[in-house]
Amino acid sequence: GGSGAVQTDLLRARMRLSLQEHLWEFYREKVNIPGEEQATARRAALDICAELRVFLHAKLPDMPLREMYLSGSLYDNLQVVTADHAQLMVPMILEKNLWSFVPGEDTIMNVPGFWLVRRENLEYFPRGSSYWDRCMVGGYLSPKSVLEVFDKLVAGSINWPAIGSVLDYVIRPVVPSETLTLEVQYDMDRRLYVDFLPLLVMEDGGSLIAKPHRLAAERHENLWRQSFRVAETAHLRALDQEDGGCRCTCLKLAKAVCKLNAALQRLNASQLTNAILLLSETEGDWTPEALADRFLQLLRSLVGHLEAGRLPCALNPKVNLLCELLEPEVDELGYTLYCALSDPEGLLRT
Ligand code: GDP
Repeated sequence: GGSGAVQTDLLRARMRLSLQEHLWEFYREKVNIPGEEQATARRAALDICAELRVFLHAKLPDMPLREMYLSGSLYDNLQVVTADHAQLMVPMILEKNLWSFVPGEDTIMNVPGFWLVRRENLEYFPRGSSYWDRCMVGGYLSPKSVLEVFDKLVAGSINWPAIGSVLDYVIRPVVPSETLTLEVQYDMDRRLYVDFLPLLVMEDGGSLIAKPHRLAAERHENLWRQSFRVAETAHLRALDQEDGGCRCTCLKLAKAVCKLNAALQRLNASQLTNAILLLSETEGDWTPEALADRFLQLLRSLVGHLEAGRLPCALNPKVNLLCELLEPEVDELGYTLYCALSDPEGLLRT
């Protein structure tokens, strides 16, 4: 009867209230990283970046690069749980008349969000006219080959033990690594992983990174990955600033939950950010009081995206952010999140 319904409503309200409290407690105790820890990690990354700049300028003055810089969640206050990784961006300079960008949907692979970089005008400007011709494979600039060039340098010819002892860190290249990664032990029990990420900036401002397609069959080998990270992070932050919202907090909670639960580790920051951006298109109330509701709604929307096998990038809906997951992985993520809907606090007990 009526009173039963009221009882259920009350019960639901009470559960939501306590979820809200548990989320904030989890945020304070697990998600948020103390300022001092972040500062130490940033300093270690900066020291490494400075060393690499000096080395590359001295050793390869002709290599057409713009200044390297650090980026990632550690610099956007979006890193969670431990300050343990950063990206070192390495912007490459390409001659405009020698290289062109071909969107993935216009290629035989038909993958939006990935691009080919084609060498042009070879008849007038033969091989060798561009510094980066050495990384050309089958007429295209190969991200794999670019990474190999840097790998030889960074892992092969820099004396990291010597530099490390000067800086008082233990530095070693991680092998094997899909991208090029340095491990920096900057305290007895603290480690920072710095990914070396070559980057191309297109004329329209879009950027491509040398991070291979995860299901890199041979035919995917020459694909560059379009990065939307800067724009999507800025968009999320701007929305929060307009309405004093809790989207970034919600993102950090979700990132921590995925980092701490083995079954959810395949979900990354970009997928979670975009799921929140898509939710923001229809959901207006992001006040901190609504955090638990929005968090649950985020989980529900992720279940929906996984069921559909599709999570469009908010900035380019043609891009499916689930396209690098295998079907069993999609199923496992969906199942885990579906179960979490009836016991969301279980996600916080890790
Ligand atoms: P977190 O690693 O989960 O804290 O998330 P981030 O927001 O720091 O994203 C880092 C990941 O995004 C790495 O796997 C990068 O390879 C990838 N990525 C894609 N584009 C970019 C970019 O423009 N900058 C950085 N720093 N990382 C990018």
